[in-house]
Amino acid sequence: MIELDQVTKTYDGKNVVDSVTLSVGKGDLCVLIGPSGSGKSTTLKMINRLIPLSSGTIRIEGQDIASVRAEELRRRIGYAIQSIGLFPHWTVEQNIAVVPRLLKWSSSQVRQRVEELLDLFHLDASEFRHKYPHQLSGGQAQRVGVARALAADPEVLLMDEPFGALDPITRDSLQEEMRRVHEETGKTIVFVTHDMDEALKLASRIAIMDEGRLVQVGTPREILNTPANDFVLNFVGQSD
Ligand code: ADP
Ligand code: MG
Repeated sequence: MIELDQVTKTYDGKNVVDSVTLSVGKGDLCVLIGPSGSGKSTTLKMINRLIPLSSGTIRIEGQDIASVRAEELRRRIGYAIQSIGLFPHWTVEQNIAVVPRLLKWSSSQVRQRVEELLDLFHLDASEFRHKYPHQLSGGQAQRVGVARALAADPEVLLMDEPFGALDPITRDSLQEEMRRVHEETGKTIVFVTHDMDEALKLASRIAIMDEGRLVQVGTPREILNTPANDFVLNFVGQSD
């Protein structure tokens, strides 16, 4: 579904993403993990074409993303981040509907989709669709952020430390929900975190980054059983 081929990003003469080659299969929940500064967010933003590559190629279903129109890319790739960036003066419904509106869906299509998505996250649509972001708890706002990313039914969902700012209990329940949503929707997800416990909970595959390089890619079991090097061993050892 998503293929990165020798992807490199250079800032100030330094490869912050260094020749990363990775393929993410349809329906995978691939967790991209590594310490702060290892290049995870930069990698994700290149998949989304929020920033250009210095060299290499990224393909979505075989098609070079450089040749996909921006609007089409927004439809095909959803993006959810920690600071959700919900528009404060817009209701939950209006926030979720950003991409559908760009795509000129009718208001009844939008309304129905918002209902489905709130349902998916067990938020009562009649109660929540008209609320404003300041009326939501952190966990509810984060659910709306993910719902927004899923609004136009993208093929791929990118998530950058989406639950990082939440308290541990809310975080646990959102991880559980994400697992369920992944199972129910079969979405291809690339999920960035620096938290090994989160990775082990969620991932069908884990890709470990260190200083811009991919150091190991495997199932959680493979990573736990046969860490590729001391870095991975130490990193895995930090989880409990
Ligand atoms: P991570 O998400 O793994 O914490 P990032 O991808 O955000 O890491 O950053 C990787 C490295 O690239 C860091 O050293 C960061 O300082 C650097 N970096 C990120 N964005 C820029 C930028 N716009 N200009 C210069 N350096 C950047
Ligand atoms: Mg980051």
